[in-house]
Amino acid sequence: MVIHRIFNFSAGPAVLPLPVLEEAQRDLIALPGVGMSVTEISHRSKTFEALLTRAIEDFRELSGLPANYKVMLLQGGASLQFSMVPMNLLTDGRPADYVDTGTWADKAIAEARKVGDVRVTGSTKADGYSRIPSAAEVSLTAGAAYVHITTNNTIEGTQWKTLPETGDIPLVADASSDILSGPLDFSRFGVIYAGAQKNLGPSGVTLVIVRDDLLARSTSTLPTMMSYKVLAENNSLYNTPNTFGIYLLGLTMKWLKSLGGVAGIAAINVRKAGMLYAEIDRTGFYRGTAQKESRSLMNVTFRLPSEDLEKRFDKEATAAGLDGLKGHRSVGGMRASIYNAFPTEGVSALVEFMKEFERKNG
Ligand code: PMP
Repeated sequence: MVIHRIFNFSAGPAVLPLPVLEEAQRDLIALPGVGMSVTEISHRSKTFEALLTRAIEDFRELSGLPANYKVMLLQGGASLQFSMVPMNLLTDGRPADYVDTGTWADKAIAEARKVGDVRVTGSTKADGYSRIPSAAEVSLTAGAAYVHITTNNTIEGTQWKTLPETGDIPLVADASSDILSGPLDFSRFGVIYAGAQKNLGPSGVTLVIVRDDLLARSTSTLPTMMSYKVLAENNSLYNTPNTFGIYLLGLTMKWLKSLGGVAGIAAINVRKAGMLYAEIDRTGFYRGTAQKESRSLMNVTFRLPSEDLEKRFDKEATAAGLDGLKGHRSVGGMRASIYNAFPTEGVSALVEFMKEFERKNG
């Protein structure tokens, strides 16, 4: 049987590395040496605990995470973290600072407001979220409980290049759409969370990293399943986790290590995004929606001269095996999501398609 895979530009769930899918397919019915599927074994079995430990150890190695952080693989998506972060960290009446850089940041703010006192300390909403605010535009509240940022804005196609200086105030980040895509000094953060379905594996797993000292903020009155302290103490096994998702995340970590880790993939990501932005900037037919200094390496957003042309572009691209290029419904336009697992050949194919489309319609 010939398997035909097209180029999948989806923003998430997104393309997974082929070697990951192949290994999962090969071992689906019986894990070597186990004789049962990974989906059939207890989450408390030695086999699964070893898989979980390995996945987390590999993540630690790839990220260079210092020892004083806990790594958890939870459920509920990044969206649940919008609530869990304030429920755990906003516990003593102090305000939390949030930087508003896009639709997802905005959602995080709305959820935190249900829990406590939230101040928006910088926003680029007035610019249509086309950029990340400068350091001068982010004014922190003295004594804030934490500062929340969204490292990569999946819908708008912008990405932080320099982290804000927060001093003693813990920096909290939603890194759903760029985790492990390039160098990041994890020691700068108090909490980092990310839905797995873009750069880490399949949907249904959420990576949550919490610095040890912050676990003391989780009060005993929190619902058990919302408590970072309880979940960390139980090594992500307080209840039944997404075992298959964690297995796939583990395989994705192994794949990333085989490419030379974050340094290896970062070079590939810079090259892929560079190819696309060069084509967008080549003539003016395409127009990048993010301001140049804020451009994302993961989600490349652009427009065409008219909405009609955008519709035609999407239709013809899909027919040519370039799937998922339509921008988020809230902003329109086009979006090429090119996470770690997205192949360079797919970017070349899109660039060729863009040239040809412009030749015919420009
Ligand atoms: N934050 C960001 C930056 C995202 O891109 C997304 C999903 N696209 C979310 C949060 C929401 O994630 P989930 O669907 O895992 O709750």
